[in-house]
Amino acid sequence: MNLKYNSEGLIPAIIQDATTKNVLMLGYMNDAAFKKTQETKKVTFYSRSKQRLWTKGEESGNFLNFVDVKVDCDHDTLLIQANPEGPTCHKGSDTCWGDENTSNFGFISKLEATIEARRTNSNPEDSYVASLFSKGINKLAQKVGEEAVEVVIEAKDDNDELFLNESADLLFHYLMLLQAKGFKLEDIETVLKNREKK
Ligand code: AMP
Ligand code: ZN
Ligand code: ZN
Ligand code: ZN
Repeated sequence: MNLKYNSEGLIPAIIQDATTKNVLMLGYMNDAAFKKTQETKKVTFYSRSKQRLWTKGEESGNFLNFVDVKVDCDHDTLLIQANPEGPTCHKGSDTCWGDENTSNFGFISKLEATIEARRTNSNPEDSYVASLFSKGINKLAQKVGEEAVEVVIEAKDDNDELFLNESADLLFHYLMLLQAKGFKLEDIETVLKNREKK
């Protein structure tokens, strides 16, 4: 990678959350920090105040797990995608600009993450989500179909509570099906945005 370091041998590195795409912090790297980041997969800077290599999280445990790096158009700025283990700012906020590191789809993204955690970490005996995943995609798809029909039925009625409950069931099972197929809400967003352009 052809990088243009400044006169002090440093290059600015913008750190972006690989999932939410939020900007978490800005730091500077020298050649050794850049290499160490890729070797250890923990984002490491050259700290100008400490005057040494600084692995973000070395004291706090709030590491930034390296995912990918891109160089900008004129090779003088890095964009590093990472997964943060905790709040990135030493003042306690998720980002150094005081923002919350929430994802595009708000609570639905959290639900998506919870579903993923159940799917990967739970026993089918203990978790409804895990048990549905263990039955396979056809079963899940059938479940989505059933919930969709229930939404249709309740839409014809004027019981708002039932309609909202069936809508919640549909969304929940649909998120599972989406995940079972290996996709995320972001993929649906991409399709919809492409349609908008046409
Ligand atoms: P940490 O690397 O998270 O263990 O934090 C160690 C020290 O690095 C903190 O006490 C701060 O001085 C500094 N520090 C940590 N995170 C940041 C940050 N996002 N921006 C600037 N300085 C930081
Ligand atoms: Zn540039
Ligand atoms: Zn900060
Ligand atoms: Zn239902």
